[in-house]
Amino acid sequence: MEKRFGALRVLNGVSFTVKPGEKLSLIGPSGSGKTTILRILMTLEAIDGGSVRVDGEEIGASVPGRRPSRGDRDALHRIRSKVGMVFQHFNLFPHMSVLKNVTLGPMLTKGVDKAQAEAAAVDLLTMVGLADKCHCRPDELSGGQKQRVAIARALALQPKVMLFDEITSALDPELVEEVLNVVRRLAEETDMTMLLVTHAMSFARDFSDRVLFFDGGRIVEEGSPESIFTVPSEERTRSFLRKII
Ligand code: ATP
Repeated sequence: MEKRFGALRVLNGVSFTVKPGEKLSLIGPSGSGKTTILRILMTLEAIDGGSVRVDGEEIGASVPGRRPSRGDRDALHRIRSKVGMVFQHFNLFPHMSVLKNVTLGPMLTKGVDKAQAEAAAVDLLTMVGLADKCHCRPDELSGGQKQRVAIARALALQPKVMLFDEITSALDPELVEEVLNVVRRLAEETDMTMLLVTHAMSFARDFSDRVLFFDGGRIVEEGSPESIFTVPSEERTRSFLRKII
């Protein structure tokens, strides 16, 4: 795939395939295009060249001056219903309770009735350790709690693929582990496909089946966590890891 923002080429011939159920980490220096890839998979950004396929649904490059066809829009919609994303800055609805944050998506987009949506939300909030916070508003929660609500909210739509975009970067250090524990459990206990953009290298090492190292809008190196973190073959990977670990 290719992606530009104005004159800036952000992704330059990036190509990779993720197996169903695979846990993949995207690592690399700031500005290398990792978040942009997740945003493309979530259909929040269009691509300028190539194509993206999610669970059989394909989206091609946007053509300047041409409105997307009905077929393109339907494919986007179907992809959106299969992919969940958790953002660095939580993006919870601030004026709604925790419970409402989690029930809104299924009720609006899947027509689930209120009682059923609430029962499922309570199960998810219990899973992330926040059953007692159902009636709080986001501003009454710590950053780690907000992020766990955001994970529950994404899961409520029963996605096949979960995208985690630097989900601990905005947290105080003592709150990081409670969020990573939830992701760790999801990775161990579900067969969801998971893509993680992170600067938390030790977590990427534990969590991943495979790691992609990005630099300058390209995949410089990919491999098992053992190979990337212990015997990287590219000098750029080595120098990045020397600086960050
Ligand atoms: P970080 O680790 O700092 O989050 P990243 O590898 O995730 O970095 P991206 O956020 O994907 O990098 O950004 C890649 C490049 O694209 C950067 O140079 C960024 O400034 C630029 N960029 C991202 N979004 C936009 C946008 N909406 N408009 C213009 N430029 C953008």
